[in-house]
Amino acid sequence: MKPRILLIEDNEHNRYLATFLLERSGLEVRSAADGAAGIAIAAEGGLDLILLDILLPVMDGYAVAGELRRNPALARVPIIAVTSYAMAGDRERALAAGCDGYIEKPINPDTFVADVTRFLRPAGETGA
Ligand code: MN
Repeated sequence: MKPRILLIEDNEHNRYLATFLLERSGLEVRSAADGAAGIAIAAEGGLDLILLDILLPVMDGYAVAGELRRNPALARVPIIAVTSYAMAGDRERALAAGCDGYIEKPINPDTFVADVTRFLRPAGETGA
């Protein structure tokens, strides 16, 4: 089965580019434009990884990560923060909120898929 990624990103252009790059590499992508929609999709299960924008309307990515981490069914699903915040403290804050890693914006189309897939668990270890 194709690895299934949930992309939570409010910017339509960023969502389009990330989805294009991931799908072109054979990954399945579901996307949400805000945290609440992303949390609802995540609750359905079947995800291998979550890409999470930090600057989101209403509920920022830190709050979304915290909410996702309160769902035990998602405990083994990596959450990767994607943010243009360049401050060193933001990385620690993302990790403290429950993220497993961090990719900086703007994403580099040449390395984005590799940046994402290195966080996927080996086949057979996924679940949720
Ligand atoms: Mn955003």
